[in-house]
Amino acid sequence: MERNISQLILEDREKRYNDVMELSRKFDLPVVCGKLNYPGKNKNTIEANRAFEILLEIVKEKFRMKSVFSKELEGFDGRSILMVVDMSPGDIKKITVELEDNSEIGRIFDIDVYIKEGKSIDRGMINLAPRKCIICGENARICVRSGKHGLEETLNRINEIINNYGD
Ligand SMILES: [Zn+2]
Repeated sequence: MERNISQLILEDREKRYNDVMELSRKFDLPVVCGKLNYPGKNKNTIEANRAFEILLEIVKEKFRMKSVFSKELEGFDGRSILMVVDMSPGDIKKITVELEDNSEIGRIFDIDVYIKEGKSIDRGMINLAPRKCIICGENARICVRSGKHGLEETLNRINEIINNYGD
């Protein structure tokens, strides 16, 4: 039986998580996972690829001196970079939050920092405010949970941010 796209996305997400766990065990160091917040079933659009290339360059540059291993993944859940970083998780998280918050394009980056047992660091753990929604500016998590904005509206806004990059 043919599997649908949603299942394939979930499978790739699970594979990525397993890769994170494996790296975390192997190196016993924090693992940074950089990807995009890109909703919908096609996570490999021209815009998504363009944004990922930007993310990749920024993440590599930021952690160049402290990276002990990195690998890139691709699939139905889009592209991602996994990077093992020899720094304290709190310091890494501060850098990734800055990347997410301090530029327009950063607002569609989703950079997680995993510590032991596959747990990721929450913004709240280092006393930072939650991420703001790219459409209305409210707490992004609440907008996602309540389905406040439609897929088309969200995708249009995201693609607009990507297309405006560098202008
Ligand atoms: Zn919103």
